[in-house]
Amino acid sequence: MKDAAEIVKILRGEEQLGKLCLKLSTSSNEPPPSETPSDATSDKTNEKAYSISKQERSEEQLAQYQKKIEEQISQLKKLDKIKSNFLNITSHELRTPISAIKGYIQLILKQKLGEINEEQKKSLEVALRNANRLDHLIQDILDISRLDSGTMRFIPEPTNVKIMIEETVETMRSSADVKHIQINTTVEEYLPDLTIDQERIKQVIINLLNNAIKFSPDNSNINVNIRKEQDDISFEMQDFGRGIPKDQHDNIFDAFYQVKANEDKRLGGVGLGLAISRGIILAHGGRIWVESTLDKGSKFTFSLPIKPVQDVEGRFKEVDIFRVES
Ligand code: ADP
Repeated sequence: MKDAAEIVKILRGEEQLGKLCLKLSTSSNEPPPSETPSDATSDKTNEKAYSISKQERSEEQLAQYQKKIEEQISQLKKLDKIKSNFLNITSHELRTPISAIKGYIQLILKQKLGEINEEQKKSLEVALRNANRLDHLIQDILDISRLDSGTMRFIPEPTNVKIMIEETVETMRSSADVKHIQINTTVEEYLPDLTIDQERIKQVIINLLNNAIKFSPDNSNINVNIRKEQDDISFEMQDFGRGIPKDQHDNIFDAFYQVKANEDKRLGGVGLGLAISRGIILAHGGRIWVESTLDKGSKFTFSLPIKPVQDVEGRFKEVDIFRVES
């Protein structure tokens, strides 16, 4: 997703312009270059006049540069606003019809509207898989536009972990069924409630399960394990899919990063899910990591502190979601 990375670079342009401005203002204080008369016998008055006119010229130049930079910044801000509005409007408008499409496909697949034959079932499963892909992509774009405009909201509330997990896994069953993948959930008894933004944490779980399904072979298992560990609750999602090379375990949490595999293009995705998930977990005072062996499978784990953290929204703004080199 080079294009998306480019967008981030453009957004960072403002920062670069700021640095340039600083550089220009410091360079005006530098001593005049070697063309300054260096002869020891030269007239002191001439030297002073020369130096003043040189300074005036560089100040004038600096003012011109600054004006140009200000114009460019204002142009960039305008473009940025247009881009944010565009992302916001399009992603919102796309989500509603996609939800309806998915809902009806699922209804027909469950034979609630009458019996369907094997061929119809297979075709609808392909349609559902693609609708899910589209939905996932739109969610990522929506999140990026919220991140960009600083409108990502977090509403932490006391949450029963068991109910949250069961509800979330249920929403993933139809995608798993398409590949005949079994999701096995184990939740430790008597877990304390967590004060978290439930929708955001559900989004992380959905993202991890979505990846687990995507990179697992047909007829395999995915194990979801939730338990208490000292002061945290740990959420583990293990698959037996293609795995991730060791040297890329850290990179996959960077925005737009995808493991270099030909398959990824076909499977879709833009490499944003894990970057956003990481931001959400860090904002809640937690941690997220992966253990994975190539061709054996991956285990993604995140932990959340039982003691609620303050100012999740503020913490989220502090996280460098993009981690893209400028
Ligand atoms: P995407 O939308 O591309 O899935 P993510 O940020 O969710 O973006 O994941 C980044 C990359 O990490 C994926 O493209 C894939 O290469 C790798 N990855 C993530 N989860 C798994 C997994 N369970 N098994 C194998 N590879 C994975």
